[in-house]
Amino acid sequence: MIDNKGLLIVISGPSAVGKGTICKELFKRNIENLELSISATTRNPRPNEINGVNYHFIDKESFGKMVEHGEFLEYAQVYDNYYGTPKKYVIDKINQGKDVILEIDIQGAKQVRQNYKDGIFIFIMPPSFKELKSRIMKRGTEAQKDIDKRMKCAYEEIEQAKYYNYIVINDDLHNAVEKIYCIIKAEKCRLSRYHIDLSEFKEEL
Ligand code: 5GP
Repeated sequence: MIDNKGLLIVISGPSAVGKGTICKELFKRNIENLELSISATTRNPRPNEINGVNYHFIDKESFGKMVEHGEFLEYAQVYDNYYGTPKKYVIDKINQGKDVILEIDIQGAKQVRQNYKDGIFIFIMPPSFKELKSRIMKRGTEAQKDIDKRMKCAYEEIEQAKYYNYIVINDDLHNAVEKIYCIIKAEKCRLSRYHIDLSEFKEEL
């Protein structure tokens, strides 16, 4: 009766909007059947980050080979580093009936939208530009010229929100996570996921 394939859920939004934190909170709920795709990146691990848990940390050469061999579902250069979603893991999980979350940037989400029409696209929106600027500044690592660059970039990224299926405003972490949880639950009930077979009923009539 039900489509056995899992859902592909893309969570995206501008830099510093809090998509990583939202995903971490979502996974604390231990939602049945939900898996997080672990991206490959050429950036260096931050303190506390573990290879194979937060990212697959690889060098530029290995990343280039994966691109060449078509091993990414999508990939993008985000500021100075490359990030990509390994395709096999995601497709295998979906075929096993698992729902997979991709937490990726706007350019990557665009590629997935073009290639995977059944995906569910959730855009995380900052409560305001002022708030986004303060979040970028709080990260504390960027110089003024980088902050300006990121704000300009955020403006262009937010223009893309219209192409998504859902908008979740990150004004409150708990609220945002709850909304994403509800979106996933509702998507599982979509009519298109069901093949309604009345033959059994007919036999009973
Ligand atoms: P960070 O280096 O702070 O972990 O991530 C930087 C940006 O890269 C974030 O916006 C994050 O969502 C994005 N990102 C992480 N993994 C991927 C990926 O596999 N593909 C793309 N396109 N972006 C990613």
